[in-house]
Amino acid sequence: MIGVDTSLTETERKYLESTVAMLQEEVLVDELDERHLRDLDRNEETSEDWRTFMRRVGDRDLLGVPVPRAYDGAGLGFLETALTVQAVAYAGCIMQACQVSMSQHGGRTLYSYGTDHVKETYLRPWLRGEKIAAQAFTEPGSGTDLAHMQTKAERNGDEWVVTGEKRFVDFAGYADFMLVPVRTGGEDGDHEGISYFVVDADADGLETIEQQSSWHGYRGSDARWLRFDDVAVPETNLVGEEGAAWPMITDELNLEHITMARYCLGSSEQALEIAANYTLHRDVDERSISRYQAVSHQIAESATKLDAAYLLNTRAARCLDEGGMGAGRLESAMTSYFGNEAAFDIADASMQVMGAIGTTDKYPVERIQRDMRTGRFLGGATEVIKNIIQHDVYERIADDEFDGELVGAEYEGLPWTTELDGTKAVAPGDDD
Ligand SMILES: Cc1cc2nc3c(=O)[nH]c(=O)nc-3n(C[C@H](O)[C@H](O)[C@H](O)COP(=O)(O)OP(=O)(O)OC[C@H]3O[C@@H](n4cnc5c(N)ncnc54)[C@H](O)[C@@H]3O)c2cc1C
Repeated sequence: MIGVDTSLTETERKYLESTVAMLQEEVLVDELDERHLRDLDRNEETSEDWRTFMRRVGDRDLLGVPVPRAYDGAGLGFLETALTVQAVAYAGCIMQACQVSMSQHGGRTLYSYGTDHVKETYLRPWLRGEKIAAQAFTEPGSGTDLAHMQTKAERNGDEWVVTGEKRFVDFAGYADFMLVPVRTGGEDGDHEGISYFVVDADADGLETIEQQSSWHGYRGSDARWLRFDDVAVPETNLVGEEGAAWPMITDELNLEHITMARYCLGSSEQALEIAANYTLHRDVDERSISRYQAVSHQIAESATKLDAAYLLNTRAARCLDEGGMGAGRLESAMTSYFGNEAAFDIADASMQVMGAIGTTDKYPVERIQRDMRTGRFLGGATEVIKNIIQHDVYERIADDEFDGELVGAEYEGLPWTTELDGTKAVAPGDDD
């Protein structure tokens, strides 16, 4: 935020400042310095680099921020969770923030619903920075419409056998384990009948079909398209009840909407600061370009969008702090829509006012602009997020006649069309 963020308490502001300082002084140094961020963007990172990063952030309590300390989390709230990923993106890059963010929403799911085996074997080492996770939700035939997933699991004695394909799985090349929702019952598109598993990355039958990291933004995670060919998964790796994963997934995505918008804003803030400084020192026709209002107004607009988006995000995080993981769906959707769009606008304006140099890798602005473009759909496309917003706005302001029909056939299968009443996941540990 530009200036003092009075929407945060002094303690929260200090948490953010000290986390940024810690990342700059202790984590993103030596082999993880700025040169390494360029390597990440060129997909030239190594597994050892990622493990070093995870150990460093794990040692400093930046993984699993909303998970109790008894399970190796930080035992803090959802607002501190958002501030943490903001700090990682601001001091480092989007992929680092993405893995740290996954440990917040995915970690919270494993903590709330995982068996003792899942907590001891996967959650704790993950939050200590000893293991790397991947989130394998998307399939070739189902992205936005998650409930149309075709990957399935069938019970075989005390095991489940998983068959199907998942794609665009960040960190698949480095992961020790994956979070994998699959269909175990019900019909195509049903919310019921989806189960959530933890699958070892080296399990027999789990193969790479294609490496997918050379996309527009979000590079450096060795993302892959995977085939599950009769992969055996023990019963103890089922997270939550069989067939009852949908509300867990929607709650997880609810938190992800907040963290993703927040880390996109952290990245775009970095771009804006670079651009504003550049315009002060770049002369055109013997005048600093900051003195051309066509330039400085872009800085003004960007700064205003940034601050507004942070405020919206803080409100959404506070809704979760008050109501738990599934609370504040409307506020989470609003911060996702407004935050991701604002982050792109800011990064794009930052590149624009820098001229050609802004398109080179001399500054990280070019990378951030590509990352922010990608952010407009990967955690839920803006168009889809607006579907949630319009529904929940109508529901909140409507009179008794409103029957919720805006969630109709057109949206069936989308992860956010769960009716509000009666389906909210109640996590056993939510009071901790
Ligand atoms: C860089 C990157 C990293 C990713 N990492 C992961 C990962 O780690 N794990 C994982 O599981 N997935 C990952 N994904 C996949 C991501 O979750 C999907 O891209 C996202 O869910 C959208 O699905 P889709 O791309 O199949 O788009 P589709 O569902 O095919 O939608 C295409 C477009 O159609 C429009 N649209 C769709 N539905 C509607 C609607 N109801 N109303 C109006 N418009 C609509 C939107 O414009 C949307 O962008 C990643 C993607 C990217 C780009």
